[in-house]
Amino acid sequence: MQKGNIAVQTENIFPIIKRFLYSDHEIFLRELVSNAVDASNKLKALSRRGEAKGEIGDLKIEILIDKDAKTLTIRDQGIGMTEEEVKKYLNQVAFSSAQEFLEKYKDETNIIGNFGLGFYSAFMVASSVEVQTKSWQEGNAAVRWTCEGNPEYTLENIEKDSRGTDVILHIAEDSLEFLENERIEGLLEKYCKFLPVAIQFGTKDETIFEGEGEEQTERTIQVDNIINNPEPAWRKQPADLTDEDYRNFYRELYPQSYDAPLFWIHLNIDYPFNLTGVLYFPKLGNSLELQRNKIQLYSNQVFVTDSVKEIVPEFLTLLHGVIDSPDIPLNVSRSYLQADSNVKRISGFITKKVADKLAELFNKDRADFESKWSDLGIFVKYGMLSDDKFYEKAIKYALVKNLAGEFYPIEEYVEKVKPTQTDKHDKVVLIYTTQPEAQHTQIEACKAYGYEVVVMDQPMIDSPFMQQLEYKLGNLVFVRVDSDTVNNLIQKDEKPELVLNEEEKTKVKDVFTSVVSDPAGRVEVQPLSPQEAPVIITRPEFMRRMKEMQAMQGMGMDGFPDSFQVIVNGNHELVAKKILHESDEAQRSNLAKYLYQLALLNQGMLKGAELAEFTKRSLENL
Ligand code: ADP
Ligand code: MG
Repeated sequence: MQKGNIAVQTENIFPIIKRFLYSDHEIFLRELVSNAVDASNKLKALSRRGEAKGEIGDLKIEILIDKDAKTLTIRDQGIGMTEEEVKKYLNQVAFSSAQEFLEKYKDETNIIGNFGLGFYSAFMVASSVEVQTKSWQEGNAAVRWTCEGNPEYTLENIEKDSRGTDVILHIAEDSLEFLENERIEGLLEKYCKFLPVAIQFGTKDETIFEGEGEEQTERTIQVDNIINNPEPAWRKQPADLTDEDYRNFYRELYPQSYDAPLFWIHLNIDYPFNLTGVLYFPKLGNSLELQRNKIQLYSNQVFVTDSVKEIVPEFLTLLHGVIDSPDIPLNVSRSYLQADSNVKRISGFITKKVADKLAELFNKDRADFESKWSDLGIFVKYGMLSDDKFYEKAIKYALVKNLAGEFYPIEEYVEKVKPTQTDKHDKVVLIYTTQPEAQHTQIEACKAYGYEVVVMDQPMIDSPFMQQLEYKLGNLVFVRVDSDTVNNLIQKDEKPELVLNEEEKTKVKDVFTSVVSDPAGRVEVQPLSPQEAPVIITRPEFMRRMKEMQAMQGMGMDGFPDSFQVIVNGNHELVAKKILHESDEAQRSNLAKYLYQLALLNQGMLKGAELAEFTKRSLENL
């Protein structure tokens, strides 16, 4: 037996390895299984080139737990190592790259996926590591290498019949969890689910049926428990996959979810960077939050992380699926990642693909696209708000819905209402409702004028979205249906004339001012059509937006006054005749108050004691 010392440049790195990334000790398994996969793939390549002769057999990798011996073994049938190779790769290459890695990152805690520690990550959980290996090359003896977590190692020849490597971890006392079946199975599920070589972890029961009909019998047999799917959908050619295949793969990725995805995009590019993957559009409904952290990042089928927000633009994290790219640097810290030019290009590429896919769906089957809009809208709007390039494409198919339930791309809708809804500044006025039920009265008034109303009922995203459209398109303004009286919603020069003279107008205004109890209400007498309501409550668009913005920035509701306007229709009979000509002062203000409260009621603003009093008085008058 030989003994030796691994060339140590700095002091002992093993204690550092042990402390390193405290919470992430589990990645040792991914590292060792990845090495086994590499060794298997190298053998396949040698065999393809005719260098490794004969049948190489099926190259499955086995994970074995021996509780009595307290060992965890990762066994492969790959290329193995000769004695020289063990010295070179384990003592020198692997050791110095682990050392280099630790030097560089020992103060970083957020290295994406923590790739780079490699073979020596075994010492995070093992008190000693034993490697038994036999090279694929004829005429080389098998060797055993051991190391106890210090720079000393032993090396000796052993008997080993089969080609390949056993990495045997003698699990440390503080890491005994890694001898539990469930723990290991969980880790294999997480990191190795789509590795390209079959990975076996014990056996499982399988029920087989024999015979037909009455004669049929059931039998349970033991079969290999293969935990991975070595050929996941994203590595195949789109032409070889059916819709059913994509849906099945979605279920494989998210066994928990019962909603089928709306549609998907297969990513497949090898120049100027290598990237494969499948992105799914989930049913989002109204929620922006629930579904994050669903995209999984892989590197050559090895799971890296399910937090990809440094790699794709924020709005794309609403999608589900898989991105696989060996060109994403995985052992740099997250903040460097965003600045990486490859990552930027990849992110741009994915954004473009997503935008193009939506365009394709819209152009191919508009009715179908419209039917999916309630699930897509929030995503598209969010994307338009956060990414200019995405906006440029999506403006062609971002839809608005009118009250009749018809959908139009924004620019098409603008053309449609332009003839009737252009104001004196030549802007097209898009009237919207946030709550069709609550704003029913004003909506009906708009209809009577022949105006159209669109539904914008997701304030979190719709408010900034409308602002963006006003800013980008320039030729339109949005006004909420209750922000002014109907004939003022669209500012025109021609207005009905006020039948009251100045003196009468002042008198009416004073009567109403005295009955408006809420200090936030401001009275104004206006010349509306006699058919409109005698009193209308409005909330000016501008004021309301300021308030909404404030609320969204968490500044509370009290900064900006919550004002509303009490618009008195000076041309309404009840105002111009009854109130004006009523000689009994009490009667006059009673009537004014009643009309004002009626308007409040319409807005859902009549509450508490005032509502009770209103009801009582109404009943008395019956
Ligand atoms: P990396 O995988 O990035 O090369 P590692 O530290 O994980 O770094 O492994 C170092 C080297 O040890 C590998 O490059 C390989 O040559 C050798 N090695 C590790 N595990 C095996 C194995 N199971 N079979 C054959 N060679 C191995
Ligand atoms: Mg490795």
